[in-house]
Amino acid sequence: MTLLERLDRLGGAVGSLEQDGYRWDTGPTYTALPAVLRDLFRKSGRPLERELELVPVEPMRRHRFEDGVVLDLPSGSRAGQLDAVDAALGGGAGRAWVDYVHSFADSWDVLRRGYLERPWSPEHADREVRDLLRSRATQQRTVRKTFRDERLRALALTHAVVDGHDPRNVPAWMGLVDYVEQNFGTWTVPGGLGQLAGTLTRRLAERRVEVLLGTAARDLVLRDGRVVAVDTVSGPVDADVVVCAVDPRGLPALAGFVGRTMPALPPTMCHLGLEGDLPDLPHEVVLHGDPTLVVRTAGATGPTDPTDAAGPADGAAGGRAAWTVLARGRLAEDVLVALARRGLDVRGQVRTRVDRSPASWRSPGAARRTACCGRAAPRWPSGWAPRRRCPGCTRSGRTWPAAPGCRSSA
Ligand SMILES: Cc1cc2nc3c(=O)[nH]c(=O)nc-3n(C[C@H](O)[C@H](O)[C@H](O)COP(=O)(O)OP(=O)(O)OC[C@H]3O[C@@H](n4cnc5c(N)ncnc54)[C@H](O)[C@@H]3O)c2cc1C
Repeated sequence: MTLLERLDRLGGAVGSLEQDGYRWDTGPTYTALPAVLRDLFRKSGRPLERELELVPVEPMRRHRFEDGVVLDLPSGSRAGQLDAVDAALGGGAGRAWVDYVHSFADSWDVLRRGYLERPWSPEHADREVRDLLRSRATQQRTVRKTFRDERLRALALTHAVVDGHDPRNVPAWMGLVDYVEQNFGTWTVPGGLGQLAGTLTRRLAERRVEVLLGTAARDLVLRDGRVVAVDTVSGPVDADVVVCAVDPRGLPALAGFVGRTMPALPPTMCHLGLEGDLPDLPHEVVLHGDPTLVVRTAGATGPTDPTDAAGPADGAAGGRAAWTVLARGRLAEDVLVALARRGLDVRGQVRTRVDRSPASWRSPGAARRTACCGRAAPRWPSGWAPRRRCPGCTRSGRTWPAAPGCRSSA
């Protein structure tokens, strides 16, 4: 097995960044599917628990709505979410929320069995999977119809907005993310989820996977319509089977298999190293409005060398904290000013900061650029019904939502 990676490090969006004694996750800070990680580690050698500690995030997320109401949403508990939403919003909002989330139970079951847990093959897919993926119901329309309370609407559209999608283009079934979070909870690694990249890199070496860094795939080489090699910047690499985990729009042989999907832009990001009198915040705080601001507080401070016995401290330790702020929407001022306007004024506590604009994520020279194109907007490809296949190629990762004609495994 050979792994081709265009950058000089593995991990994709999963990674971390250090500066002045602070460390931040540069991409994901939690996962709602710890079972996938546990399965991967168990099937490839030692179990995950022997390598990394996965801990539940509690509360999962704080929402502060535009009217100032605060909701701390617990993870992994329907009853807990009912109580929390009722307490914050009142008027039967808790029941309305958990009923909405539970309405995705069937969608989750259908997609898990027929789309996520086995390689996708259009002609073998169950009818119910095909019907669901073909459905034209949008998240925007469903949420507006379901809730009259603007705060519940904002709550239900949080993932679409934070991921950079227009809810008018997002299929209604994407609401199953809330179902998954409510049922399985969200999980993280103390000191940062970015450590996962190093752990996975070591596992690849143990399994003797050949890793070619700095080797961008340019296209697939087809013979008699079947994939036989990957054309890279360093020449062709022969292959019996190719698993494509990158944006297919960049590979001419595959570009035609993707319908009218749109790449999602990365958020504007700011990593903050803070010191002093700081508010005690949960793992993630979503400040609703335009722009929507997301504060992630689980960065590490203190020694970040993994061999250091003290280890890194996560959260606000010794009056220090490493936050990451993500902004979506119209950000017309410095992110610290925008935060202060929403009641989180830490301008006097900043010891260091790293700003990352959407453009810097893509510039070839950026030291820590991270691929974000894997988050294509989940629009329906035109003519979803299978028309063509690309034998020998399986897709993986978050890049191709229901791309026609290609086998997939998530
Ligand atoms: C800021 C941010 C925060 C996020 N937070 C969360 C979170 O908290 N929880 C969560 O579950 N998800 C989160 N996500 C989403 C999550 O990171 C992605 O869903 C996930 O990383 C997608 O994995 P992937 O392997 O499909 O793509 P990527 O992680 O983008 O990996 C693709 C890899 O392919 C490489 N590559 C690209 N093109 C080529 C080529 N032509 N040749 C060779 N290599 C190539 C890239 O360099 C990269 O290493 C976040 C994403 C971002 C950007």
